[in-house]
Amino acid sequence: MPDYPIFDGHNDTLLRLYKNKDLSYKDFLTEMEDGHIDLPRSKKGGFAGGFFAIFVPNQQMTIKPGSKPNSKLPKPLKLEYAQQTAMAMASSLFKLEAESDGQIKVVRTADELQHCIDNDIFATIFHFEGAEAIDEDLYALDVFYQAGLRSLGIVWSRPTIFGNGVPFLFPSSPDTGDGLTDAGKRLVKRCNELGIMLDLSHMNEKGFWDVAKLSDAPLVATHSNVHALSATPRNLTDKQLDAIKASDGMVGLNFATGFLREDGKWDSDTPLETMVKHIDYLVERVGENRVGFGSDYDGAGVPADVSDVSKLPNLIDALKGAGYGDTLLKKITHENWIRVLRKTWKS
Ligand code: ZN
Repeated sequence: MPDYPIFDGHNDTLLRLYKNKDLSYKDFLTEMEDGHIDLPRSKKGGFAGGFFAIFVPNQQMTIKPGSKPNSKLPKPLKLEYAQQTAMAMASSLFKLEAESDGQIKVVRTADELQHCIDNDIFATIFHFEGAEAIDEDLYALDVFYQAGLRSLGIVWSRPTIFGNGVPFLFPSSPDTGDGLTDAGKRLVKRCNELGIMLDLSHMNEKGFWDVAKLSDAPLVATHSNVHALSATPRNLTDKQLDAIKASDGMVGLNFATGFLREDGKWDSDTPLETMVKHIDYLVERVGENRVGFGSDYDGAGVPADVSDVSKLPNLIDALKGAGYGDTLLKKITHENWIRVLRKTWKS
């Protein structure tokens, strides 16, 4: 077992495997030249797993990690298309688990997650980034929950029947539109009842405060940074960070260079010190039990020094160099995620 197994708040690996015609989900089990995550490179870098996002792309969307995201909000998706695509991606996650010879597990409880991390089993959480595959009566939510869905971002950067996400503008406040709809409010309550974690990354500010008011679970942003250090609406204002702290929630550091840098540029030539600065700020503002990683691997352009999971020890070394000791590194790399999920999930 690595000294600091890294469990991570967000990746788009399922999307990469789904979108790339030359790849099958099985390629995850072998070392690939491209992309950020596969099983062999995870073992090299001490990457113990993470939230595996089911993200339904716009039908015309091209995904090129490293390229600047489009600043215009796309149109809402149709339920049938979203559901079909989500099924295909979820199916590849479960097939991956089934064909991994016990090396990969889709975890449903905090004990299962802890067991995987203690025993070098790659742990994945079935997570939706955007609730477009769920109907307004929430029937599909119950079915997805039974299948293993344990985390849900109500919106990606796109309007839905539940709420609105932030556009990729820079600089901008996250206060970019209306909050939750009535269906969105019902969705929050039902997720609380089932013990599905709600992810606030991509949510606009009004929606954030609606969730903060309604939800009885800790507030979590799986892959967002500090707005005071990089003024994209994808990042969290001090007021939002204070609400996350008050709820005993958590923030996962996003490695996307455009959300780390003060100038908002998408540039892989971004030093690890910039990441450390965000971690320093988060630890100071929300406390050392409420900070982790949320890499956005396979979904965004990241600094060259952490260009794929095998390079994660570079980030650990940078944190050690900045004075982070054993106890705090354990918290940031995995313990805090287990803590917040134990509080949120019903088992
Ligand atoms: Zn995202």
